Parts: sequence; structure tokens; C-alpha cells
Amino acid sequence: MAASGGIAVRGPRSLLRQIREAMAGAGPAQGKLDMVVRTIAISMVAEVCSIYLRRASGDLELFATEGLAPEAVHVTRLKPGEGLVGETMRIGRPLNLSDAPNHPAFAYRPETGEDPYHAFLAVPLLRGGRSIGVLVVQNRTERIYGEEEVEDLQIIAMVLAEMVSSSELLGLDELKDVEIAPHKPERLKGARFAEGLAYGVAVLHEQPVAPEQLLSDDSAAEEIRLKVAVTALQSQIDEMLEGQGGLVGASYEVLDTYRLFAHDRGWNRGLEEAVRSGLTAEAAVERVRSEHRARLGQARDPYLRERLHDLEDLNDRLLRHLSGDVHAVRQLPDDAILIARNLGPADLLEYDRTKLKGILLEEGSAASHAGIVARALDIPCVGRLAGLRDRVSEGDPVVVDAETAEAWLRPRPDVVKALKARMEVRAQRKAEFARLRDTGLFRTEFQFMVAEEMPRLEAQTALYEKVLEAANGMPVTFRTLDLGGDKLLPYMEMEREDNPALGWRAIRMGLDRPALLRMQIRALIKASRGRELRIMFPLVASVDEFRAARAFVDQEVAWALKRGRPAPARLDVGAMIEAPSLLWHLDALLPMTDFVSVGTNDLMQYLFAADRGNPRMADRYDPLSPAALRALKTIQQACADTGTPVSVCGEMAGRPLEAFALVALGFDRLSMPPAGVGPVKQMVLSCDREAARRNVEALLKGSGGSIRGEIETLARKLYVAV
Ligand code: PEP
Ligand code: MG
Repeated sequence: MAASGGIAVRGPRSLLRQIREAMAGAGPAQGKLDMVVRTIAISMVAEVCSIYLRRASGDLELFATEGLAPEAVHVTRLKPGEGLVGETMRIGRPLNLSDAPNHPAFAYRPETGEDPYHAFLAVPLLRGGRSIGVLVVQNRTERIYGEEEVEDLQIIAMVLAEMVSSSELLGLDELKDVEIAPHKPERLKGARFAEGLAYGVAVLHEQPVAPEQLLSDDSAAEEIRLKVAVTALQSQIDEMLEGQGGLVGASYEVLDTYRLFAHDRGWNRGLEEAVRSGLTAEAAVERVRSEHRARLGQARDPYLRERLHDLEDLNDRLLRHLSGDVHAVRQLPDDAILIARNLGPADLLEYDRTKLKGILLEEGSAASHAGIVARALDIPCVGRLAGLRDRVSEGDPVVVDAETAEAWLRPRPDVVKALKARMEVRAQRKAEFARLRDTGLFRTEFQFMVAEEMPRLEAQTALYEKVLEAANGMPVTFRTLDLGGDKLLPYMEMEREDNPALGWRAIRMGLDRPALLRMQIRALIKASRGRELRIMFPLVASVDEFRAARAFVDQEVAWALKRGRPAPARLDVGAMIEAPSLLWHLDALLPMTDFVSVGTNDLMQYLFAADRGNPRMADRYDPLSPAALRALKTIQQACADTGTPVSVCGEMAGRPLEAFALVALGFDRLSMPPAGVGPVKQMVLSCDREAARRNVEALLKGSGGSIRGEIETLARKLYVAV
């Protein structure tokens, strides 16, 4: 049948030229579209040819027809999925039927007078993977249109889609409301992958290319161009694969799949045929891409969707080869919001990170590569935004709100204003957080515990040097040996004690064995090599102990100077507040110190007389109790009064709710294990500290053993993320 179709005889090239001429002429858009449907109908020997375009409302409207009743033009409207035309739009691929009225989706529209037509072929007008309308041909007789006819009509549809959306036609009043691209404000709900807020301009990761020239002047030359580019692409991918000799598992599979696709005959043939029919190589890539997107984009099977991702990447690479722009890095606007279906681990490296302000993804998960990388780079990211890429165009203004896990597309001015205010508050809190940072507690005893024998001066110096190098100028607080209690050394004779936690441990041992403590201080001074140094003594229980320990530091500085070695540029010596006795002697202690740090693990153990390592004691007492929090408040107040820097360490500082209570008490330096940093940071950024402080005072007056519930309620009331 195809052979008898006008298209097969005259070829799509000549038809495409006629269409182009019809569209290029002067006159109203309506007249041009009427001419186009007439030309197609004649060329395809079809009794009916109609164009439906999508209105902003989402409805498909009959815009031009040859064969149906002219009164139906601009009257017949269909919802996506309604009738066969709506169905074509919904599925995004051709619908080819021999007996249309018998199809379950058929919707009868009396005004069109279409009753006698049986054969029906509809193809979507695709632009950037999005259907902007539908092109239909119909014949009276029952028949199936041939493969080539379907193929030809798709090419015509693609050219038509580009022409309808060209700025020249858009300016015309008749096409004003046609939804070439969505333009209304929209709000999509997704999932938070990386916290933060951003406002900027949409940059499509898989950018739909609108080729400058759709029709080639010389098909044979174009075919050669395509072949050269495809060959270059294939060898590039082969090389990538060869260069990955050591690569195994998933990463290798990803590359290998690329390779298979690049060499895939079906893909190559599709491109060649499109070029032979008169398209430029770039337009051929776009046509094959649109078709894949429309077909695979619907697939629920995650494997198939992944393959689409591979194909997208391949198409992009091929376009780069065609433009000779093989190593190009995408130029970004200053406030770019990257829009993608999903991102691979290396994808973000293609972009200038200083300009990338946010990321919106249609799929993915917080644990995906994209989520992990976005968090690592501190770029706000919202994912799982269904329908995202269909609703946003390159250059659209967009908002990334990872606090509410939403994306605002083309937001109204009031939304942008409110967001900017929130961004400002966030920036202030971020600055506060910079102060509220971990100063880096280094527990020196671990080196001693894992060694076979007592580490010598050189070994200690070497380790401390490494720690300081790694900190790269960030302050590190070295805590002198906190041995004894539950931390025993296999190579050191220790007497058995009935109550080791209350026994010969920490600074007590250091003061009784000055050689050990002095060697450690000497190693620290040496490792500092004239830089800043912070030393802290654990489990100080009386001011005399601190005074004695500090004297050792002074002696060691003098010793170094005497030998011509540099003293630290600045030396801060602090005490850990872990023994409750100090709470009643802070007035004497604090002036002697450069800083203090509250060791909440030990302080709670001694306050409640409950072994911190005994599981039966674990839930018996709550640090979120008036007793414990008043003790902490006493320390905070005394430090504030004397201007003594104070930090809080121990497990408490790394848990968001407990950290919230600490912040509410007025502490602004927390030291925590790495796992706590993310959640606590989020808590701090969402916390109005003044309001927290004002409200917590009353809770401390409570008469219960635990005020955890009350603190939780307060956090919720203040919208704090705990
Ligand atoms: C503490 O006691 O809170 C502390 C930080 O030190 P450690 O857990 O090492 O005793
Ligand atoms: Mg301790």
C-alpha cells in the first residue's frame, strides 16, 4: 500500500519543501495551516488531514482540517486521553488503526461529520519529548497505513512542530494560547535529597536541541556527515571502555551498555533513514530522540528507563560530534538550576559548581549518586518530581525549596519574594552555624590503645603533625591522655580497681606520672611547629589539678624555647568539665583557663551516679531533665559572665533534639562525631535561637524527671527540624 501512497512516489523531501513554503509565506497563521493540511492530504492521498494543537488548558483543539466539517475548526476540543486524538497525545506515539470507530477510545463528535472514515493514522507533534499537538490523516476505506507512511508522517509532524513553535508564528494572535511550552506557574511536590533553598533559571541537563536547520540541501553529503560523527562517537566510546581496564561491576556495565547502543544497528538505521528522507543530521538525532523519549519515557520498568538515560546521553554526545564541539563544557547562567530526569555520579562535573545553585530531578532517591553528590557539594536538591521535565522549559524561572520538598516553576512574584526572605534568614543562620562549628576534638589515647608498646616521642609527634596537616588550619583541640576507667593499655601494669570510673584515670594518672604527660605535651609543641595549639585536660576535678597540669605546659614551652625551637604562635589551654565538683568552683577555675569543654558523657555519669557503660542504666536518667539542664545552664552562664569560650562534647551534642536544648541554653559551640554533623546542622539552620532561649527557661522549672516531651513540643512549635 505504501508504494501507491503519494509520499512514497514523490518522497517526503518534496512534501516537506511544500510545507515549508506554505508556512513561510505571508498571511494569517490560519491560512498557512489550512494550506499545510491540504498539501499533506493531497500528497498522502488521504481524505482527511487535521492538525490539533494543545491549548494552555491542556485541551487539544482542532486548528485546521481538510476533509472534516470546516465549522468544527476551533470548536472541537478534546482532553488528553479523550478520543483517539487525545489518546495519541497521551501515549506520545503514532496510532495506526484500520477501523477507528470500533476502537474503545473513539469519541464521536457530530460537528466534524467524520462518521464514514475508517482508516486512521495519528502522530504526536513532539517538541523536546513533549507533545504539543497531533497530526491526523484519515481514509474512508478500512486499511492499515504502511510503515513508510507512518515514518513519513512522523517526519512531517516533527517539522510542523518546529514551525508551529517558531517565534515567527508564535507572534500571531491565533496561536497565542497554544501551549508550545507550559507558561503558567506550577508547584510540584517531591522528596528532599539535599537541604537548602535556591532561585534561578532552569538549565535542562538533557537539553532538547532545536536544530537550526531541519532540512538538508544535500542528503548524500548529510549522510556522510552523520557517518563520520557516528564513527567518531563509536571510537570515542570504545576508547573509554578500553581505558577502563581495571573497571569492574556496575561502572563497567554502564560503559558497556553505551558501547552496545552506539553500535546498535536499529539506532543507526533510524538516523540514516531520517537523513535520507531529507533531514539534517542534527534534526535526525532530534527526531530519533523524541521518539525514544515518548516511547520509553512512559515505561514503568526501571531498566527501560535507565536505557533511555543512556540513549539521551548518546544523542547528546553525537550532537557534540556533529558540531565539532566534542569537549565542550556547558556554559551556565550565574544562577543555574539544573533540571534532569536523573544524574549519574560524573554528570555534575560537567558544570561550573560556582554557578550551579540548585538541582531538580524527576526521579532518583536521596541515596542515589545525585543525592549524595548534591549533599557533598551543598547544592539544594529536590527529587522525585513527577512530570517535571514535561512542565519546564530551558530558561524558565524556578525555585528549589528543599525545606518543603517542592519545586515552583515560573513562580509568581509573591512566591519569589517570600522565598528570598527565607533565603536571607537561612544565610544568617548559616553564618551563626559557622560559629557553631566543631572545633575538632582529638582523643590522643587511641594511639596508645592500639599500639604494641608505649608510643615514643617521635611517633606521637608524627601523628599530631598529620592531624594538624589534615585539619588544614581549622582548630584542633588535643585532649591529653584519658586512660584508665574503661580504657586500659595492654603493655602497662595497672592495679585492679573496684570502681575504675572513679579511680586512677585521665589527668590524675598524668599528674602522678609527669614523664608521660610531659612527653605528650612536648610532642604537641613540637608538632605545632610554631602554629596555634590547643591542649585540654580531661576529668579535672579540682582547680589544683588544672593549675598543676597547666604548669607542665609552661615548663615545656620554656624547654622548647631554651633549645631554640619555636613556641606555638598561640597556646590555649583548657579544662574538661566532667566532674560535678567543678560546678561549684567555676569562679576560681574559669579565669585560669583559656577555654573549657563540657564532657557530657562523663558529667551525666557522675551527676546521676550511673555507670555510662552499663545498659541497665542507659534509660534510667534523662539528660533532658531539669537537673541536668540546670547544671549545664550553670556552666554556660558562668562562661558567659567571664567571657570563657565553652563547647559541649559527648553524645548529647550530636543528637538533634539534645543539641536543640543545648542551643536553647545558650551554647554555641558543639563538638560531635561526623554522623551527627548533618542532622544537627539542619536543626541549627531551622532554629530561631532567640525564640528557643526565651521558651526554654520556663521548662527548666519543671518538676518532672524528664522534660524530653516538652522540649520536643517546643521544637515543633518553633518549626525546628529535630
Ligand atoms: C565525655 O565524657 O563527654 C567526652 C567527650 O569524653 P569521653 O567520651 O572520651 O570520655
Ligand atoms: Mg569524658
